[in-house]
Amino acid sequence: MASKHKIEWTEKTWNPTAGCTKVSSGCKNCYAETMAIRLQAIGVVGYENGFKFNIVPQRLNEPLKRKKPTVYFVNSMSDLFHQDMPIDYLDQIFDIIKKTPHHTYQILTKRADSMFKYLANKKIPKNIWLGVTVENKSEGLHRIDKLRNLKASVLFLSIEPLLEDLGDINLENIDWVIVGGESGNKARPMEKEWVVNIKEQCETYDVAFFFKQWGTWGADKVKRNKKVNGKELEGKIWQKYPKIIEKKFALEI
Ligand code: SF4
Repeated sequence: MASKHKIEWTEKTWNPTAGCTKVSSGCKNCYAETMAIRLQAIGVVGYENGFKFNIVPQRLNEPLKRKKPTVYFVNSMSDLFHQDMPIDYLDQIFDIIKKTPHHTYQILTKRADSMFKYLANKKIPKNIWLGVTVENKSEGLHRIDKLRNLKASVLFLSIEPLLEDLGDINLENIDWVIVGGESGNKARPMEKEWVVNIKEQCETYDVAFFFKQWGTWGADKVKRNKKVNGKELEGKIWQKYPKIIEKKFALEI
């Protein structure tokens, strides 16, 4: 069964693999690693080896059983393009996506090169949104160049945790930008100016901007409970979705 989640920008998670390996600065305080150790302790399927990457075939067919159109975040606890992912299993995951056009699948990775290699010469199903994480300039910005050349319905950036001012970002072909600060005791601070810089570029280039949260460090640079820090930026909530989902939500109302 897909796990319950607390991610504001999706509806449900689907984790046909579990575990991962740290690849860049954004991974330092990985939430999935902490969760995997807890899930291992209570005997949840897929976490027998803690945070070690493995496939979880027991979860592969979950979307087939769900009739209600759902926006799935694929692999909230792993990375679909992990170096140990067997290609035939990745093919099976994409087959499930093709067989369930009533669902929407948000696929986010830090392994942009592997995603590009796998998808560059394939017809990407319309119900897939593709995203890359961008935590800083040196490790994150080049991932956007791989992403922008893939032909998916929605291309998005998850700029979380934002670790520095990203400067000028090339937003060509990008539909949606999510920004957030880090949570937890070891969280690294995020400065308001860095977030405003991204928001202004999104406004200039007509890209939907979604500010998720401040995290452990508030806009005033004080460390406290993330719920208290909230998600207001300059006195407002900024939580836009790409136009495609705005239409979908409008139809449901
Ligand atoms: S890629 Fe994601 S899941 Fe994997 S270690 Fe990094 S933050 Fe964790």
